Amino acid sequence: MSEAVSSGRKATVNRLVADPERELLRARARQELVEFGRRAYRAGLIPGLSGNLSIRVAPGEIWVTPSGVNKGFLAESDLIAVDEEGNLLYSTGHRPTSETPMHTAIYRVRPDVGAVCHTHAPYATAFAVAGLDLSEPILPEVIIGIGPIPLIPYATPTTQEVARVVSEVMKSHQAGLLANHGVITVGRTLAEAYARMESVESLARIVAISRALGRVNVLSPTEVERLLALVNGHGM
Ligand SMILES: [Zn+2]
Repeated sequence: MSEAVSSGRKATVNRLVADPERELLRARARQELVEFGRRAYRAGLIPGLSGNLSIRVAPGEIWVTPSGVNKGFLAESDLIAVDEEGNLLYSTGHRPTSETPMHTAIYRVRPDVGAVCHTHAPYATAFAVAGLDLSEPILPEVIIGIGPIPLIPYATPTTQEVARVVSEVMKSHQAGLLANHGVITVGRTLAEAYARMESVESLARIVAISRALGRVNVLSPTEVERLLALVNGHGM
């Protein structure tokens, strides 16, 4: 959802573990959050104050985008660190994204996930608004790189309820559509989570156009099996 404009600035909080190696990871994470925020904004995926990104640099240390700031124009100093329960570890005065509970809930159930990307990508969100998923096997690269993209039932954005519903589905999926809200993807890195976001949006656009043309051919179970065998056999 769009995030409320923050009211007033507070002093810097810093409860980060002092560790030179960790500091290198933090520096890279901050650069990536700024860079991918800019890309997502330019691509029209996070209009206004919508969308949020996060990176887990180490167990118990997650860097997130701030609330009330357009993510196309972030500065590294705007970024915030929280632990996996959402407790503040670092901030120069911004509040963490109001969707922090959704991010931290996913990290708690997915130890393999290093980044979470949430946008309001218009075509994919249109499917979510129409109550449609993107789970049919249509494009090989999506079948291989993401798998089925379910529709996650609506829950009020920013609440613990949305965190619970979304993390339950994301235990076993790499991407999901949030009913009447937006899209969420995960990855080992932010580059991977963001690439999945682009693929979901591209798929949604292609399916919408194909439906307008009057026909969507779905790949057969045999073709899907062949694809998955290819991936498993050759480590694509
Ligand atoms: Zn949202």
